[in-house]
Amino acid sequence: MMFSKHVSKDISAYCHGELSSEASKQFAEHIISCVRCRTKFEEIKLGIKLAEQLPQLTAPDSLWSEIESALGRESEISARVVYMRPSSSWRGRVAIAAAVILALSVGVWLYNTQPGPRSGSGQAWQVTRLGGTPKIGSSGISSRGSLAVGQWLETDENSRAQIAVGTIGNVDIDENTRVKLVETQPTEHRLELARGRMSARIWAPPRLFFVDTPSAVAADLGCAYTLEVDDKGDGRLSVTSGWVALQTKERESIVPAEASCETKLGTGPGTPYFDDSTPEFRQALKTIDFSQDPTAKANALTTMLNQSRPRDTLTLWHLLPRVNDEERVRVYEKITAFAPPPTGVTREGVLTLDQKMLEQWRVALERTWGSGGKGIPQVEKSLKGWSATPLKDVLKK
Ligand SMILES: [Zn+2]
Repeated sequence: MMFSKHVSKDISAYCHGELSSEASKQFAEHIISCVRCRTKFEEIKLGIKLAEQLPQLTAPDSLWSEIESALGRESEISARVVYMRPSSSWRGRVAIAAAVILALSVGVWLYNTQPGPRSGSGQAWQVTRLGGTPKIGSSGISSRGSLAVGQWLETDENSRAQIAVGTIGNVDIDENTRVKLVETQPTEHRLELARGRMSARIWAPPRLFFVDTPSAVAADLGCAYTLEVDDKGDGRLSVTSGWVALQTKERESIVPAEASCETKLGTGPGTPYFDDSTPEFRQALKTIDFSQDPTAKANALTTMLNQSRPRDTLTLWHLLPRVNDEERVRVYEKITAFAPPPTGVTREGVLTLDQKMLEQWRVALERTWGSGGKGIPQVEKSLKGWSATPLKDVLKK
Protein backbone atom coordinates (compact mmCIF):
# COMPACT_ATOMS: atom_id res chain seq x y z
CA MET A 1 0.00 0.00 0.00
CA MET A 2 2.70 2.40 1.05
CA PHE A 3 4.53 1.95 -2.26
CA SER A 4 1.48 2.19 -4.50
CA LYS A 5 1.67 4.50 -7.52
CA HIS A 6 1.76 8.26 -7.04
CA VAL A 7 -1.65 9.87 -7.33
CA SER A 8 -0.88 13.49 -8.27
CA LYS A 9 -2.74 13.15 -11.58
CA ASP A 10 -5.93 12.21 -9.70
CA ILE A 11 -5.98 15.22 -7.39
CA SER A 12 -8.30 17.29 -9.56
CA ALA A 13 -10.73 14.39 -10.03
CA TYR A 14 -10.60 13.72 -6.31
CA CYS A 15 -11.37 17.36 -5.48
CA HIS A 16 -14.32 17.24 -7.88
CA GLY A 17 -15.67 14.14 -6.17
CA GLU A 18 -15.34 12.24 -9.44
CA LEU A 19 -13.42 9.20 -8.22
CA SER A 20 -15.32 6.07 -7.24
CA SER A 21 -15.46 5.21 -3.53
CA GLU A 22 -12.78 2.57 -4.01
CA ALA A 23 -10.52 4.94 -5.97
CA SER A 24 -11.06 7.70 -3.37
CA LYS A 25 -10.07 5.30 -0.65
CA GLN A 26 -6.87 4.30 -2.45
CA PHE A 27 -6.13 7.96 -3.16
CA ALA A 28 -6.50 8.88 0.52
CA GLU A 29 -4.43 5.95 1.73
CA HIS A 30 -1.64 6.91 -0.63
CA ILE A 31 -1.81 10.59 0.40
CA ILE A 32 -1.48 9.64 4.05
CA SER A 33 1.79 7.83 3.50
CA CYS A 34 3.34 9.82 0.63
CA VAL A 35 4.79 13.23 1.49
CA ARG A 36 5.34 14.08 -2.18
CA CYS A 37 1.70 13.62 -3.23
CA ARG A 38 0.40 15.18 -0.05
CA THR A 39 2.43 18.34 -0.63
CA LYS A 40 0.99 18.57 -4.16
CA PHE A 41 -2.50 17.99 -2.79
CA GLU A 42 -2.05 20.72 -0.16
CA GLU A 43 -0.95 23.21 -2.84
CA ILE A 44 -3.93 22.48 -5.02
CA LYS A 45 -6.29 22.53 -2.04
CA LEU A 46 -4.97 25.98 -1.14
CA GLY A 47 -5.45 27.17 -4.73
CA ILE A 48 -9.03 25.90 -4.76
CA LYS A 49 -9.72 27.49 -1.37
CA LEU A 50 -8.42 30.85 -2.60
CA ALA A 51 -10.46 30.52 -5.78
CA GLU A 52 -13.61 29.82 -3.77
CA GLN A 53 -13.02 32.89 -1.66
CA LEU A 54 -12.23 35.13 -4.63
CA PRO A 55 -15.66 36.82 -4.93
CA GLN A 56 -15.49 37.77 -1.25
CA LEU A 57 -12.01 39.25 -1.44
CA THR A 58 -12.00 43.01 -1.27
CA ALA A 59 -8.71 44.77 -1.73
CA PRO A 60 -8.12 48.49 -1.40
CA ASP A 61 -8.40 50.28 -4.77
CA SER A 62 -4.79 51.36 -4.54
CA LEU A 63 -3.68 47.73 -4.43
CA TRP A 64 -5.62 46.86 -7.56
CA SER A 65 -4.27 49.82 -9.48
CA GLU A 66 -0.79 48.75 -8.47
CA ILE A 67 -1.51 45.24 -9.75
CA GLU A 68 -2.86 46.68 -13.00
CA SER A 69 0.20 48.78 -13.56
CA ALA A 70 2.36 45.82 -12.67
CA LEU A 71 0.46 43.65 -15.14
CA GLY A 72 1.30 46.24 -17.79
CA ARG A 73 4.86 45.12 -17.36
CA GLU A 74 4.06 41.50 -16.70
CA SER A 75 7.48 40.22 -17.64
CA GLU A 76 8.79 41.90 -14.51
CA ILE A 77 6.34 40.29 -12.12
CA SER A 78 8.05 36.98 -11.63
CA ALA A 79 11.36 38.78 -11.19
CA ARG A 80 9.77 40.85 -8.43
CA VAL A 81 8.54 37.78 -6.64
CA VAL A 82 12.06 36.47 -6.54
CA TYR A 83 13.87 39.70 -5.81
CA MET A 84 11.33 41.25 -3.47
CA ARG A 85 12.98 43.39 -0.82
CA PRO A 86 11.29 43.68 2.57
CA SER A 87 12.08 47.41 2.72
CA SER A 88 10.06 48.13 -0.40
CA SER A 89 6.41 47.98 0.61
CA TRP A 90 5.15 48.78 -2.90
CA ARG A 91 7.12 46.01 -4.48
CA GLY A 92 6.25 43.73 -1.58
CA ARG A 93 2.56 44.22 -2.08
CA VAL A 94 2.80 43.62 -5.80
CA ALA A 95 4.81 40.48 -5.14
CA ILE A 96 2.18 39.21 -2.71
CA ALA A 97 -0.58 40.02 -5.20
CA ALA A 98 1.36 38.22 -7.91
CA ALA A 99 1.84 35.21 -5.67
CA VAL A 100 -1.89 35.15 -4.94
CA ILE A 101 -2.70 35.37 -8.65
CA LEU A 102 -0.29 32.54 -9.35
CA ALA A 103 -1.80 30.35 -6.64
CA LEU A 104 -5.26 31.19 -7.90
CA SER A 105 -4.49 30.39 -11.50
CA VAL A 106 -2.88 27.09 -10.58
CA GLY A 107 -5.87 26.18 -8.42
CA VAL A 108 -8.45 27.36 -10.94
CA TRP A 109 -6.65 25.73 -13.81
CA LEU A 110 -6.43 22.37 -12.05
CA TYR A 111 -9.99 22.74 -10.83
CA ASN A 112 -11.19 23.36 -14.35
CA THR A 113 -9.10 20.83 -16.27
CA GLN A 114 -11.73 18.18 -15.69
CA PRO A 115 -15.35 18.59 -16.67
CA GLY A 116 -18.07 17.37 -14.36
CA PRO A 117 -20.30 18.52 -11.56
CA ARG A 118 -18.87 20.85 -8.96
CA SER A 119 -19.13 19.61 -5.41
CA GLY A 120 -19.92 23.05 -4.07
CA SER A 121 -21.67 24.10 -0.92
CA GLY A 122 -25.05 23.57 -2.58
CA GLN A 123 -24.51 19.85 -2.77
CA ALA A 124 -26.51 17.61 -0.46
CA TRP A 125 -25.44 14.40 1.24
CA GLN A 126 -27.40 11.18 0.82
CA VAL A 127 -29.07 9.86 3.93
CA THR A 128 -30.23 6.24 4.29
CA ARG A 129 -32.70 5.19 6.98
CA LEU A 130 -31.34 2.37 9.18
CA GLY A 131 -34.38 2.15 11.45
CA GLY A 132 -37.42 4.10 12.68
CA THR A 133 -38.19 7.46 11.09
CA PRO A 134 -35.22 9.85 11.13
CA LYS A 135 -36.11 13.47 10.33
CA ILE A 136 -34.45 15.95 8.04
CA GLY A 137 -35.70 19.38 9.07
CA SER A 138 -39.28 18.69 10.07
CA SER A 139 -40.04 15.87 7.64
CA GLY A 140 -39.46 12.18 8.28
CA ILE A 141 -37.66 10.04 5.70
CA SER A 142 -39.02 6.62 4.76
CA SER A 143 -35.98 5.07 3.07
CA ARG A 144 -33.69 7.71 1.59
CA GLY A 145 -33.35 11.45 1.85
CA SER A 146 -30.83 14.17 1.26
CA LEU A 147 -29.26 16.53 3.73
CA ALA A 148 -28.46 20.00 2.40
CA VAL A 149 -26.05 22.53 3.91
CA GLY A 150 -27.68 24.14 6.94
CA GLN A 151 -30.17 21.30 7.48
CA TRP A 152 -30.48 19.23 10.66
CA LEU A 153 -30.81 15.44 10.73
CA GLU A 154 -32.46 14.19 13.89
CA THR A 155 -33.13 10.72 15.25
CA ASP A 156 -35.39 9.79 18.16
CA GLU A 157 -35.09 6.84 20.54
CA ASN A 158 -36.20 4.41 17.81
CA SER A 159 -34.49 5.71 14.69
CA ARG A 160 -31.03 5.51 13.13
CA ALA A 161 -29.56 6.71 9.85
CA GLN A 162 -26.43 6.61 7.72
CA ILE A 163 -24.99 9.61 5.87
CA ALA A 164 -22.77 9.21 2.81
CA VAL A 165 -20.12 11.92 3.00
CA GLY A 166 -19.59 12.52 -0.72
CA THR A 167 -17.16 9.86 -1.86
CA ILE A 168 -14.93 10.11 1.19
CA GLY A 169 -16.75 7.98 3.72
CA ASN A 170 -19.85 7.53 5.78
CA VAL A 171 -21.24 8.42 9.15
CA ASP A 172 -23.67 6.31 11.18
CA ILE A 173 -26.08 8.35 13.29
CA ASP A 174 -27.31 6.54 16.41
CA GLU A 175 -30.56 7.08 18.34
CA ASN A 176 -31.38 10.43 19.99
CA THR A 177 -28.90 12.36 17.92
CA ARG A 178 -28.93 15.79 16.25
CA VAL A 179 -26.42 16.63 13.49
CA LYS A 180 -26.21 19.52 11.03
CA LEU A 181 -24.40 19.67 7.71
CA VAL A 182 -22.34 22.85 8.08
CA GLU A 183 -20.27 22.77 4.93
CA THR A 184 -19.34 20.50 2.04
CA GLN A 185 -16.57 21.67 -0.26
CA PRO A 186 -13.79 19.77 -2.05
CA THR A 187 -11.47 21.26 0.55
CA GLU A 188 -13.59 20.88 3.65
CA HIS A 189 -16.50 18.81 4.91
CA ARG A 190 -17.98 19.81 8.24
CA LEU A 191 -20.74 18.43 10.45
CA GLU A 192 -22.01 19.77 13.74
CA LEU A 193 -22.91 17.21 16.42
CA ALA A 194 -25.20 18.97 18.91
CA ARG A 195 -25.99 15.84 20.91
CA GLY A 196 -26.07 12.05 20.64
CA ARG A 197 -23.63 9.67 19.03
CA MET A 198 -22.10 9.18 15.57
CA SER A 199 -19.51 6.81 14.12
CA ALA A 200 -17.42 8.00 11.18
CA ARG A 201 -15.36 6.00 8.70
CA ILE A 202 -13.46 8.44 6.54
CA TRP A 203 -10.98 7.61 3.80
CA ALA A 204 -9.96 11.18 3.08
CA PRO A 205 -6.57 12.81 3.36
CA PRO A 206 -6.04 14.26 6.84
CA ARG A 207 -7.95 17.40 7.77
CA LEU A 208 -10.69 17.29 5.19
CA PHE A 209 -13.49 16.15 7.48
CA PHE A 210 -14.39 17.99 10.70
CA VAL A 211 -17.06 17.61 13.35
CA ASP A 212 -17.92 20.59 15.56
CA THR A 213 -19.16 19.71 19.05
CA PRO A 214 -20.12 22.19 21.81
CA SER A 215 -16.75 21.74 23.56
CA ALA A 216 -14.20 20.85 20.83
CA VAL A 217 -13.71 20.18 17.13
CA ALA A 218 -12.77 16.69 15.92
CA ALA A 219 -10.39 16.84 12.94
CA ASP A 220 -10.00 13.64 10.97
CA LEU A 221 -6.45 12.54 10.23
CA GLY A 222 -7.53 9.48 8.20
CA CYS A 223 -9.49 7.13 10.40
CA ALA A 224 -12.58 5.59 11.99
CA TYR A 225 -14.00 6.86 15.23
CA THR A 226 -17.04 7.33 17.46
CA LEU A 227 -17.97 10.70 18.89
CA GLU A 228 -20.67 11.33 21.50
CA VAL A 229 -22.10 14.47 23.05
CA ASP A 230 -24.35 14.49 26.13
CA ASP A 231 -27.09 16.96 27.07
CA LYS A 232 -24.63 19.18 28.95
CA GLY A 233 -22.48 19.57 25.83
CA ASP A 234 -19.64 17.39 27.17
CA GLY A 235 -18.27 14.76 24.82
CA ARG A 236 -16.12 11.71 24.32
CA LEU A 237 -14.11 10.57 21.32
CA SER A 238 -13.05 6.93 20.79
CA VAL A 239 -10.78 6.09 17.87
CA THR A 240 -10.87 2.64 16.23
CA SER A 241 -8.32 3.22 13.46
CA GLY A 242 -5.95 5.97 12.37
CA TRP A 243 -5.80 9.26 14.22
CA VAL A 244 -8.14 12.06 15.23
CA ALA A 245 -7.20 15.48 16.62
CA LEU A 246 -9.59 16.90 19.20
CA GLN A 247 -9.08 20.60 19.53
CA THR A 248 -10.02 24.07 20.65
CA LYS A 249 -7.99 27.22 20.06
CA GLU A 250 -6.08 26.68 23.30
CA ARG A 251 -5.67 22.92 23.38
CA GLU A 252 -5.11 19.98 21.12
CA SER A 253 -5.23 16.27 21.91
CA ILE A 254 -4.03 13.81 19.29
CA VAL A 255 -5.84 10.52 19.73
CA PRO A 256 -4.64 7.27 18.08
CA ALA A 257 -6.48 3.98 17.51
CA GLU A 258 -7.55 2.14 20.68
CA ALA A 259 -7.53 5.39 22.65
CA SER A 260 -10.23 7.81 23.81
CA CYS A 261 -10.48 11.40 25.00
CA GLU A 262 -13.14 13.24 27.00
CA THR A 263 -14.04 16.84 26.32
CA LYS A 264 -15.86 19.28 28.61
CA LEU A 265 -17.71 22.49 27.94
CA GLY A 266 -15.56 25.40 29.12
CA THR A 267 -12.37 23.31 29.45
CA GLY A 268 -12.09 21.68 26.04
CA PRO A 269 -10.40 18.36 25.32
CA GLY A 270 -8.94 16.39 28.21
CA THR A 271 -5.90 14.13 27.90
CA PRO A 272 -6.08 11.06 25.63
CA TYR A 273 -5.74 7.60 27.21
CA PHE A 274 -5.64 4.03 25.95
CA ASP A 275 -8.89 2.10 26.46
CA ASP A 276 -6.94 -0.78 28.08
CA SER A 277 -5.44 1.45 30.81
CA THR A 278 -6.54 0.56 34.36
CA PRO A 279 -9.81 1.98 35.76
CA GLU A 280 -7.79 3.70 38.53
CA PHE A 281 -5.60 5.34 35.90
CA ARG A 282 -8.63 6.65 34.00
CA GLN A 283 -10.38 7.87 37.14
CA ALA A 284 -7.25 9.72 38.27
CA LEU A 285 -6.83 11.27 34.83
CA LYS A 286 -10.39 12.60 34.95
CA THR A 287 -9.55 14.38 38.23
CA ILE A 288 -6.34 15.83 36.77
CA ASP A 289 -8.14 17.04 33.66
CA PHE A 290 -11.33 18.46 35.09
CA SER A 291 -11.16 18.90 38.89
CA GLN A 292 -10.65 22.39 40.36
CA ASP A 293 -9.25 21.03 43.65
CA PRO A 294 -5.40 21.24 43.70
CA THR A 295 -5.01 18.61 46.49
CA ALA A 296 -7.23 16.13 44.67
CA LYS A 297 -5.26 16.77 41.49
CA ALA A 298 -1.88 16.20 43.18
CA ASN A 299 -3.09 12.92 44.72
CA ALA A 300 -4.55 11.84 41.40
CA LEU A 301 -1.20 12.44 39.69
CA THR A 302 0.50 10.10 42.16
CA THR A 303 -2.09 7.39 41.48
CA MET A 304 -1.85 7.88 37.75
CA LEU A 305 1.96 7.72 37.64
CA ASN A 306 1.89 4.51 39.73
CA GLN A 307 -0.63 2.94 37.34
CA SER A 308 1.26 3.90 34.16
CA ARG A 309 2.47 1.32 31.65
CA PRO A 310 4.97 2.00 28.83
CA ARG A 311 2.12 2.58 26.38
CA ASP A 312 0.59 5.22 28.68
CA THR A 313 3.33 7.65 27.66
CA LEU A 314 0.59 8.77 25.23
CA THR A 315 -1.16 10.30 28.25
CA LEU A 316 2.01 11.40 30.03
CA TRP A 317 3.37 13.19 26.95
CA HIS A 318 0.12 15.15 26.54
CA LEU A 319 0.19 16.10 30.24
CA LEU A 320 3.61 17.81 30.09
CA PRO A 321 2.31 21.26 29.08
CA ARG A 322 -0.88 20.90 31.14
CA VAL A 323 0.57 20.51 34.65
CA ASN A 324 2.51 22.91 36.90
CA ASP A 325 6.33 23.05 37.01
CA GLU A 326 6.67 20.75 39.98
CA GLU A 327 4.31 18.14 38.53
CA ARG A 328 6.04 18.40 35.15
CA VAL A 329 9.28 17.12 36.69
CA ARG A 330 7.42 14.05 38.02
CA VAL A 331 5.74 13.36 34.66
CA TYR A 332 9.06 13.85 32.84
CA GLU A 333 10.83 11.38 35.11
CA LYS A 334 8.11 8.78 34.66
CA ILE A 335 8.34 8.97 30.87
CA THR A 336 12.16 8.72 30.94
CA ALA A 337 11.84 5.60 33.11
CA PHE A 338 10.01 3.96 30.17
CA ALA A 339 11.84 5.64 27.27
CA PRO A 340 14.77 8.04 27.65
CA PRO A 341 14.45 11.09 25.39
CA PRO A 342 16.13 10.75 21.97
CA THR A 343 19.34 12.59 21.11
CA GLY A 344 18.67 16.31 20.88
CA VAL A 345 15.90 16.30 23.45
CA THR A 346 17.10 17.59 26.82
CA ARG A 347 15.57 17.60 30.28
CA GLU A 348 15.74 21.39 30.38
CA GLY A 349 14.13 21.71 26.96
CA VAL A 350 11.21 19.47 27.90
CA LEU A 351 10.71 21.17 31.28
CA THR A 352 10.61 24.58 29.58
CA LEU A 353 8.22 23.14 26.96
CA ASP A 354 10.43 23.59 23.91
CA GLN A 355 7.93 22.79 21.09
CA LYS A 356 10.49 21.23 18.75
CA MET A 357 11.81 18.91 21.43
CA LEU A 358 8.34 17.90 22.54
CA GLU A 359 7.43 17.01 18.94
CA GLN A 360 10.65 15.07 18.48
CA TRP A 361 10.00 13.10 21.63
CA ARG A 362 6.41 12.37 20.61
CA VAL A 363 7.54 10.93 17.28
CA ALA A 364 9.95 8.63 19.16
CA LEU A 365 7.32 7.61 21.71
CA GLU A 366 4.71 6.80 19.04
CA ARG A 367 6.68 3.64 18.27
CA THR A 368 5.43 2.18 21.54
CA TRP A 369 1.80 3.31 21.22
CA GLY A 370 0.50 0.44 19.04
CA SER A 371 -1.01 -2.79 20.36
CA GLY A 372 1.41 -5.09 22.18
CA GLY A 373 4.15 -2.47 22.28
CA LYS A 374 4.29 -2.19 18.49
CA GLY A 375 4.46 1.17 16.78
CA ILE A 376 1.74 2.74 14.67
CA PRO A 377 3.74 3.30 11.48
CA GLN A 378 1.09 5.42 9.78
CA VAL A 379 0.95 7.81 12.65
CA GLU A 380 4.40 9.15 12.26
CA LYS A 381 3.96 9.55 8.55
CA SER A 382 0.56 11.11 8.72
CA LEU A 383 1.58 13.77 11.19
CA LYS A 384 5.05 14.57 9.94
CA GLY A 385 5.18 17.55 7.67
CA TRP A 386 1.88 18.95 8.86
CA SER A 387 3.46 21.63 10.98
CA ALA A 388 3.31 24.04 8.04
CA THR A 389 -0.45 24.28 8.45
CA PRO A 390 -1.17 24.37 12.19
CA LEU A 391 -4.40 22.71 13.21
CA LYS A 392 -5.49 25.98 14.77
CA ASP A 393 -5.88 27.49 11.31
CA VAL A 394 -8.74 25.20 10.49
CA LEU A 395 -10.72 26.04 13.59
CA LYS A 396 -13.84 28.05 13.15
CA LYS A 397 -14.53 28.69 16.78
ZN1 LIG B 1 2.86 9.65 -3.99
